[in-house]
Amino acid sequence: MTGPRHARFDVVVVGSGGAGMSAAITARAAGASVLVVTKSALGASNTGRAQGGIQAAMGDDDSVGSHRDDTFRAGHGDGRPELVAKLTGEGPRAIAWLRDLGVEFTRDDGRLRILRCGGASRPRLLQAGERTGAEMVRALRTAVRAAEPEVRESTALRGMRATASGWLLELEGAGAGTVEAGAVVLAAGGGLRGEADRLGVGSTNHPDATPEVLELAVALGAVTEHADSWQRHPTGSVWPQALAGYALPETTRSYGATLHDADGERFVDELAPRDVVADAIARVVAEGRGVTAPGGLAGVWLDTAAIDREHGAGFTAARLAYVHNRYAKAGVDITRERVLVYPVLHYRNGGLLIGADGATSLPGVFAAGEITGGVHGTNRLMGNSLLDTVVFGRTAGRAAAEAAR
Ligand SMILES: Cc1cc2nc3c(=O)[nH]c(=O)nc-3n(C[C@H](O)[C@H](O)[C@H](O)COP(=O)(O)OP(=O)(O)OC[C@H]3O[C@@H](n4cnc5c(N)ncnc54)[C@H](O)[C@@H]3O)c2cc1C
Repeated sequence: MTGPRHARFDVVVVGSGGAGMSAAITARAAGASVLVVTKSALGASNTGRAQGGIQAAMGDDDSVGSHRDDTFRAGHGDGRPELVAKLTGEGPRAIAWLRDLGVEFTRDDGRLRILRCGGASRPRLLQAGERTGAEMVRALRTAVRAAEPEVRESTALRGMRATASGWLLELEGAGAGTVEAGAVVLAAGGGLRGEADRLGVGSTNHPDATPEVLELAVALGAVTEHADSWQRHPTGSVWPQALAGYALPETTRSYGATLHDADGERFVDELAPRDVVADAIARVVAEGRGVTAPGGLAGVWLDTAAIDREHGAGFTAARLAYVHNRYAKAGVDITRERVLVYPVLHYRNGGLLIGADGATSLPGVFAAGEITGGVHGTNRLMGNSLLDTVVFGRTAGRAAAEAAR
């Protein structure tokens, strides 16, 4: 797919998760010459790890206004109103675009399956099987290949500087070299794996998720918003040991799994926003009311067996087959046994401040996805990140193509 190497492109996209691939497809559709630079294989990213689903106001009694209000409230009112309005207002269109690309959203009896998740006032979470992110990556990767940008895999952005006509980017790895760009889209993610490794704590993130691109932009003077606000996933697996760091998707709680301290007492509304649930778990453990696993780590019980008690035998195996199988391989039947969980580092709520056109404060530099700030305030709602990658990835791709022109 990679044609002859060029030294100048209208648009260089850094990263190939949901945001980078959406930007590349859209910039190509706008007629720009595009280079995609990505650290390992095309599509290898946090996006591919997403299991739970993607939010959009598509339910019968739902509205984009309700989605907007929930998003703003969950973000503690810290989101930029124009960005929150854009994210939620373009939700249904983003889903239609993904469907046009071939993403198969799950249906029950012909109707879209729409679940309620933590912090949402209505059912709003769409799923493509149990691994929505992997299905999105599959479809986006196919569309990127069809759009024929130049793609340099196993290649990382290491430096950039402004020139009279755009930016000069320094690349290292398999596609090393210097390239000129009329405009740049930074879509390198939030880098929380790198932060977790520095702190020696667990993370759900892909090994490529390191923050050097964010740090590079900051060093060039880019304005950030809430970049130090990090989200923990409430239900990282503590036991069994083989699954340490794996996060049970939020949908386990949507379907009725409950949280308990060592005495079996429930201590939080399981469908509260993520930060509320994560803080409650950490508090229970700090107060000595948690359970210590054989490896020495402490957590609280997630009673996954409650799901089949509520919905009937076979429900977990059918609706949460991926999770069920992962635990079964580790010797645990989650329909009979509880699992131990504790929050793990998951998502950077803030990052490079963008405008509604995806522009950062650096001229000709656009950004989208988890590297940005302002969309989610200081706490992201589950399912809003995949939506963010599509809405703002497409916006940034279009705007970068226009800017390069
Ligand atoms: C386990 C897990 C489950 C999740 N579940 C959900 C969910 O159900 N719903 C939801 O909405 N969100 C979920 N999220 C969050 C969501 O998946 C991510 O926040 C989102 O996909 C980020 O997309 P992105 O395109 O901004 O970045 P990423 O998908 O992280 O992609 C970043 C890309 O940049 C590349 N890159 C990094 N550094 C460089 C560099 N120096 N040079 C070149 N390339 C670079 C990487 O290789 C990668 O291709 C989940 C996240 C995880 C980890």
